[in-house]
Amino acid sequence: METLVKKSTQVKIHNFSPGPAILPASVIKAAGAGVLNFNGTGLSILEMSHRSKDIVAVVDEATQSLKDLLGLTSDYEVVWLTGGASAQFFMAPMNFLNENEKAAYVDTGTWSSKAIDAAKQFGNIEVLASSKETTYDHIPRKYKVPKDAKYLHLTSNNTIYGTEYTNWYPETGGVPIVCDMSSDFLSRPVDVSKFGLIYAGAQKNLGPAGVTIAIVRKDMLGTVTRQIPAMLDYRTFIKEKSMYNTPPVYAIYVCMLTLRWIKGMGGLEAMEKHNRKKANVLYKEIDANPLFKGNVEKRDRSLMNVCFTMHNRDLEPLFAQFAKENGVSGIEGHRSVGGFRASIYNAMPIKSVKFLADLMKAFAQKHA
Ligand code: PMP
Repeated sequence: METLVKKSTQVKIHNFSPGPAILPASVIKAAGAGVLNFNGTGLSILEMSHRSKDIVAVVDEATQSLKDLLGLTSDYEVVWLTGGASAQFFMAPMNFLNENEKAAYVDTGTWSSKAIDAAKQFGNIEVLASSKETTYDHIPRKYKVPKDAKYLHLTSNNTIYGTEYTNWYPETGGVPIVCDMSSDFLSRPVDVSKFGLIYAGAQKNLGPAGVTIAIVRKDMLGTVTRQIPAMLDYRTFIKEKSMYNTPPVYAIYVCMLTLRWIKGMGGLEAMEKHNRKKANVLYKEIDANPLFKGNVEKRDRSLMNVCFTMHNRDLEPLFAQFAKENGVSGIEGHRSVGGFRASIYNAMPIKSVKFLADLMKAFAQKHA
């Protein structure tokens, strides 16, 4: 154990924060350089007009990179929005659902239940299934999507509880899926054709807080009769290429840098391989270690947020302290569930994940 403590003084902090979260070191470096002198312009990116050609090029590149990585067809548009993923909880039903129409939702945690609450003022919301009774420890699979639902809303990764639709999405009989992908966006390939809308706050896998990505299938639009304020209408942002008003330029710039990094790493297939490898290291340790246990059903374990507790809950503050002393940051579980949560998004290096697994092993040697 002492060696591990000594070692930690030589490495930077192992950042397991759930979000805003770790970004690739090369992205942080380039993002810092852009603040001082952007693209050799002699200006900081923070003090340039969003209409200048260099900034328009940033938004264009970020948009195109997303299209390339996800293989989007011309049926889809990418827009850069504000208000966080939380604004999408109401913006999606506001844009897609008339008051007399139905939308189906699956409740897999705090974020989906917030999306459900927000949608209720726009139409008929049918909750098809919920795993609330078992503290959201699995992804419900037994339900039928009503044919007359305008869309089915899912949360692909449940950041707080550590469940994810890793290998499965429901058969919807053609009902488009509206999906909150905030915490597993770009962590693996997705078959976008199932989705009418994908939205994600940037602050886990892509960039800093302050920008939200929405990927909208165009045929979802223009079917509601209500008046939609311009700033809340996807069509405004599509028409104006996300430049209707001043977009969060710097946040989009950092996303653009991360998108370059993902491409350089080999795209979404490579991300998935890397993410599965990391998750396996940690889950293997949790299953083998006599002190720890995973919170959720194995088949639904998230590749992004590994949530676990200790059989003896009294030991948890001791392990938390031990991890902290060894340069591990951000592994406390969400305040609503306690225990631990190691968030291992795209940018998390495998060496940090192995380091945490080694700490768990060392702790067990002392306390088992
Ligand atoms: N959905 C999910 C899955 C999340 O993890 C979060 C934030 N942790 C949100 C929505 C809310 O995002 P925001 O804070 O950007 O509104």
